[in-house]
Amino acid sequence: MTEFAITPNPPVTLPVHGSNALFPVAQIYCVGRNYADHAIEMGHNPDREAPFFFMKPRYAVLPEGGDMGYPDHTRDLHHEVELVVALSKGGRNVSVEDASSMIFGYSVGIDFTRRDLQGEAKEKGRPWEAGKTFVHAAPLAPITPITESGELNEGSISLSVNGDVRQSGNINQMIWKVPEVISRISDLFCLEPGDLIFTGTPAGVGAVTPGDVLEASVPGLHDLSVTLTGTL
Ligand code: MN
Repeated sequence: MTEFAITPNPPVTLPVHGSNALFPVAQIYCVGRNYADHAIEMGHNPDREAPFFFMKPRYAVLPEGGDMGYPDHTRDLHHEVELVVALSKGGRNVSVEDASSMIFGYSVGIDFTRRDLQGEAKEKGRPWEAGKTFVHAAPLAPITPITESGELNEGSISLSVNGDVRQSGNINQMIWKVPEVISRISDLFCLEPGDLIFTGTPAGVGAVTPGDVLEASVPGLHDLSVTLTGTL
């Protein structure tokens, strides 16, 4: 039996719709500016610039949403609803043609962002982690297996706050499609089974405050609901 020098962390997992088996989360990759209308609202040219990526740690996962404490060190917490791809296989230098065969399923996630800290990082040419990484920065719905949903290349994606629709787009508006994103990440990095990929957000990002209730949905997938608690 293996002996560890310190107690290893338990795995971070997500439920799988229609199953008692849990999905073990490995890395969490996120694509920046992958919907043209969101790139424009953030002040960038939406031309097909090469996709770029950042990561979140596993402790960012808030499985199935629910109550989420307003994070510290920010006065400008933004929601970004995203289609999340869950991988059953890893690999390097995966072709676009082979990429879809690595998809285990999909989830709906929110890439929560401390926009004030991200803005400061952009201004100073620093990494984005202070804006993108904190406890529960990535609430995720249970995973729906691709065998149930089919491959998702189009369909609405939306987020409401206290019942008002704030973000409403279509998955087919992605600048870089899911297989292209998987292929590119596998070129730059090393994909592993259990990796999650946040695929970018449509326009309409904005601030939320304690007490707000967020509902995120992609038809055919499990909905995600998050209630912000705590104080500003
Ligand atoms: Mn995002």
